[in-house]
Amino acid sequence: MGRVYNFSAGPAMLPVEVLEEAQADMLDYKGSGQSVMEMSHRSKIFDNIIKEAEADFRKLVGVPDNYSVLFLQGGGSQQFAAVPLNLYKNRKAGYINTGNWANKARQEAARFGNAVELASSKDKNYTYIPDCSDLPITDDMDYVYICQNNTIYGTRYPELPNTKGRELVSDVSSMFLSEPLDVTKYGVVYGGVQKNVGPAGVVIDVIRKDLIRDDVCPETPTMLKWKTQDDKDSLYNTPNCWGIYICGLVFKWLLKQGGLGAMKERNEHKAAILYDYLDQSKLFHPTVQPPYRSLMNVPFVTGDKEMDAKFVAEAAEHGLVNVKGHRTVGGMRASIYNAMPEEGVKALVEFMDKFEKENA
Ligand SMILES: *Cc1c(COP(=O)(O)O)cnc(C)c1O
Repeated sequence: MGRVYNFSAGPAMLPVEVLEEAQADMLDYKGSGQSVMEMSHRSKIFDNIIKEAEADFRKLVGVPDNYSVLFLQGGGSQQFAAVPLNLYKNRKAGYINTGNWANKARQEAARFGNAVELASSKDKNYTYIPDCSDLPITDDMDYVYICQNNTIYGTRYPELPNTKGRELVSDVSSMFLSEPLDVTKYGVVYGGVQKNVGPAGVVIDVIRKDLIRDDVCPETPTMLKWKTQDDKDSLYNTPNCWGIYICGLVFKWLLKQGGLGAMKERNEHKAAILYDYLDQSKLFHPTVQPPYRSLMNVPFVTGDKEMDAKFVAEAAEHGLVNVKGHRTVGGMRASIYNAMPEEGVKALVEFMDKFEKENA
């Protein structure tokens, strides 16, 4: 078997061109006589890598000068703690519960203050996004927090919530760089890169500079204080050099594809191929209603556990791997991030159609 179509929710596929470039540079990065994994993070050559990565990211997204871009470690999960520790003044924030990741973030914030659940879609197993036009937000809340694309449940916000003047903080891990991102709508927007941007081990935070403060919660560890990292341009300690390098290659790849507008068109097209098939299938059923459907994570079920398991096993034999759903939803989930080619989605749909006919 050659390269498979990997529908994993993350770590996920990377563009072949990026892997090939990394391979070509592996033993001798641009005449340095060493690989990026071996060089000092204080060297001029690595400094160029991280500076160029940041510049390309800023260009790609259109990040204004009053926002910092940080390349951090600890994944999305570590930011669940960093967000309240850095932003609490009144130790009170509002959280919208749209599934596991939003809930984990709220639980972490609740360790340090009052993390209020403003709304929830738990009543229907998180298959929709609650109405966020008039939430019970109070003036003493330091921020409002959302998980904008829910990786496990396959939902996404059709529009951003009305935060009634409070800062909006968003986890965009599983939709990062899949479409244009207007960072000016957020105080903080961040994502772990292993879903849609690069290899595991890097989380990128985009933070409006006035929110990077010295007077954070006193119990904040040095490493979780955004100011520590911002003062040193993400080089306070040894960063994930290799991960940042690969992210930089992906940013260049995205720029070459035409940028985030072009990616959105492609991703909408890819998602439509799969949802159109699901909406007419007699065997497979999408679990999310159209207004809330993610372009990135597509869960579906047959309603019969044995049939689901048979499908997952047979799909893998055809080079369509990791289509098993998360245990809380069951069934299947196809994650179709930026690097999943249209041919991969078509191959999945063709296989589903064949499977459906065979098992009618
Ligand atoms: C995967 C994921 C996380 C957790 O990321 P880690 O890097 O594993 O900590 C957080 N939020 C969302 C939306 C995710 O999909």
